[in-house]
Amino acid sequence: MDKTAFYKLSYGLYVISSRKDDHFNGQICNTAFQVTSEPPTVAVSINKQNLTHEYIQACGKFNVSIISKSTPMPFIGHFGFKCGRDINKFETVNFKLGETGVPIVLDNTIAYIEADVINQMDCGSHTIFVGQVRDCGILSDNEEPMTYAYYQEVKRGKAPKTAPTYQEAPKKAEQMDKHTCSVCGYTYDPEIGDPESGIKPGTKFEDLPADWTCPVCGADKSKFEKEG
Ligand code: FE
Repeated sequence: MDKTAFYKLSYGLYVISSRKDDHFNGQICNTAFQVTSEPPTVAVSINKQNLTHEYIQACGKFNVSIISKSTPMPFIGHFGFKCGRDINKFETVNFKLGETGVPIVLDNTIAYIEADVINQMDCGSHTIFVGQVRDCGILSDNEEPMTYAYYQEVKRGKAPKTAPTYQEAPKKAEQMDKHTCSVCGYTYDPEIGDPESGIKPGTKFEDLPADWTCPVCGADKSKFEKEG
């Protein structure tokens, strides 16, 4: 069995949100998909350990915020690598409450879908929630959705030349080792730097400021391991 076949499946990247009483939470998820068109239903696959799973089971609703291709890494890290048990993820983002009373993320979102859970399937580590769509809408018409493949490429620091994050590689820097975050898998590539945090291309890992943190998950430099 060659499991790399799974990498050939294509996905998007979404914030799945829900609520429990007055508390909101959301998480990054790549598995959201339309199931039927009449009536319109969508499904999401959520890890049972996640707080969002608990919230969806508690209120029977979930929203899918479809994020744009230009979404900055810290935003993905905020929803993807922080835990809602430690922080209120909605304290620092713009959102509105939809028809279901569940928050719709407004930052970096190009479209949203609101659903009431009508069925769920226990899949071991995950639950697949099927929801009937209550409302949906477009927030930005001229931006493309983020794909999981694109995110993976950018996360690994291998942005294609056509990507907005691509930076011309600097010539002849001596020590240009890549370092990988042991928490989230983000790779710091000195040829690219970390422009979103003001780190110029050509900055060696060793020369990053002491207070520099992983742009995805917020881990400090000590959590990074040299590649190779
Ligand atoms: Fe990280």
